[in-house]
Amino acid sequence: MASVVIIEDDQRIRELMARVLADKGYEVSGAATALDGLQRIVGLSPDVVVLDMGLPDLDGAELLKMIRAVTDVPVIVATARSEDRDVIRTLNAGADDYLVKPFSVEQLEARLRAVLRRSTAEASTTAIVVGDLRVDPGSRVASLNDATLQLSPKEFDLLVYLAERAGVVVSKKQLMAEVWRQPYGGSEKTVDVHISWLRKKLGESAAEPGYIETVFGVGIKLVDPT
Ligand code: CA
Repeated sequence: MASVVIIEDDQRIRELMARVLADKGYEVSGAATALDGLQRIVGLSPDVVVLDMGLPDLDGAELLKMIRAVTDVPVIVATARSEDRDVIRTLNAGADDYLVKPFSVEQLEARLRAVLRRSTAEASTTAIVVGDLRVDPGSRVASLNDATLQLSPKEFDLLVYLAERAGVVVSKKQLMAEVWRQPYGGSEKTVDVHISWLRKKLGESAAEPGYIETVFGVGIKLVDPT
């Protein structure tokens, strides 16, 4: 049984979601404030979190950062703001998926299933080795020359995506769609920035590439430079 923490200040919406998801077999815990939600996440280690962006005590994006500082739990953001800018900001802050209000319980459950499927698929994968680089999607640990790399969740996801396709060129559009889950639009700048951070942590740069090679006009690929 999958466990869900719902952080939503609107009592009516929270109780409706909780009741329907409990009927579907989820173990549900509801919180009305950001701080209560964070405590539940830490205390219960849920499989997935549903987070309303408009909370009384703290901005949802701020809470998301705090959640990301302690756990990689999948987070589905519920937002009343459908502007691209806000959605990009949300996903960059570490959300795995989002729903624009008002949404149906069926839509919510479909997102929950998709996110849970992705996280279990990742957890069952074995480590990928490319040269001296080792990436373990299961434990979410990456190391270079046996030294653990300190990566943000998105940098890690990006590295896994590239490592799973080592030697194959991947476009930024593809990364935007697959790693950031933004198949439509989205800023490639986001991808560029994360690539440059990842390069830095791998001890390389665009000018002096090692593992991450730029294929001009096409995209990037992960290669074994050893
Ligand atoms: Ca709200």
